[in-house]
Amino acid sequence: MKDEVSIKIKLPAKKRIALIAHDSRKKDMLDWARYNKDLLSKRELYATGTTGTILERELGLAISKFKSGPLGGDQQIGAKISEHKIDIVIFLWDPLQSHPHEPDIHALQRIATVYNIVLACDRSTADFIISSPLMDEPYEKLILDYEKKRMGQIDSLL
Ligand code: PGA
Repeated sequence: MKDEVSIKIKLPAKKRIALIAHDSRKKDMLDWARYNKDLLSKRELYATGTTGTILERELGLAISKFKSGPLGGDQQIGAKISEHKIDIVIFLWDPLQSHPHEPDIHALQRIATVYNIVLACDRSTADFIISSPLMDEPYEKLILDYEKKRMGQIDSLL
């Protein structure tokens, strides 16, 4: 990656984590969050509506909730990612079923990649992430400066 097309984004010591689980994975998410409750409670937590309500009710975690996934919650998380306000996404999605908000799911996965987001789609990856020493340290990530690249292309579009 050339320097002129990448920018550095500082992640805070207190990481901002978004939690999303499809219906068939909600029990999985609850079990995982229960096991990691102490580690999670030290972070800033966000979640889609139903997932967040379950985790709040069952574990007493403080969570900022977005709308339910099918009602726009995935897109709200995507928007926060584009504003550099979310660092990590734990997204337990269902690989065996399609969903009415499939385009939103793909959009979230895509935008997470664009912004070099730490992304887990299964419990083992989530375990490795939550126990990483980097969870408690500031971290600088590199992302491609698509905006600069796009602006540089304006002349060629006219
Ligand atoms: P939910 O949304 O937490 O509101 O169920 C998750 C999803 O289906 O994307």
